Amino acid sequence: RLILEDVCKSFHGEPVVKGLNLTIEAGEFVALLGPSGCGKSTILRMLAGFEPVTDGTISHGEHCLSSAKQHVATEDRNFGMVFQSYALWPHMSVKDNVGYPLKIQKIHSDERNKRIQEALEIVQLEDYADRLPAQLSGGQRQRVALARSLVTEPDVVLFDEPLANLDRHLRAKMEDTFRAFHKRTGATIVYVTHDQSEAMSLADRIAVLNKGELVQWGTPQALYATPKNTWLANFIGRGS
Ligand code: ATP
Ligand code: MG
Repeated sequence: RLILEDVCKSFHGEPVVKGLNLTIEAGEFVALLGPSGCGKSTILRMLAGFEPVTDGTISHGEHCLSSAKQHVATEDRNFGMVFQSYALWPHMSVKDNVGYPLKIQKIHSDERNKRIQEALEIVQLEDYADRLPAQLSGGQRQRVALARSLVTEPDVVLFDEPLANLDRHLRAKMEDTFRAFHKRTGATIVYVTHDQSEAMSLADRIAVLNKGELVQWGTPQALYATPKNTWLANFIGRGS
């Protein structure tokens, strides 16, 4: 499991994450939900290892990933990641894009092709393996990025607003893809969004953040039934 203990982050002395405590169980689908600027991406970047913590610790199972004294590099975490700008290599086919992380890991081509095939099946792009990114729709590109993030069989996958650029119809379809992805891989998922309905429909548990602080942490049902304060009730659309 992933454990965040009193995690703080400041930029130029300005605190943006203030003493965050969260324990995320292995295999859980967790959403980090909150308004723009509340610190969601910063938290994800600390989990990914792109940003050191200012204070507190992040650990994964027995291993400390980040503290004021220690920092495990991104490439040593084997976390999958999909960010808002899901950069694909424009000159590489879908299957080469998906297989790229395995090539870096020097995985043999037979094994590589097998895993690429499996990943493309999960996102239902088996028939698009030889296309170039420019020949795909936005949603298909997003699914290629998703396939690429799972091809290394990571224990933890981090998503930062992965549906932000997509229209409503595609979002609904992609939500199904995320569910299938989670079911098939059993990975721990940390999913950042500012869209409460997306968080409610996908996550096992939701951490609601505001101004760098955890407002509430619980199941969608619990948040909906017993929001901790009026701000949260309003934010999740229960305000009167
Ligand atoms: P959004 O929903 O708009 O993506 P967010 O919740 O992801 O917002 P963050 O990107 O984590 O918000 O930013 C939190 C705060 O930290 C913001 O006030 C932002 O300006 C600030 N911030 C983020 N990264 C940096 C940085 N590298 N240097 C200075 N300030 C930063
Ligand atoms: Mg963000």
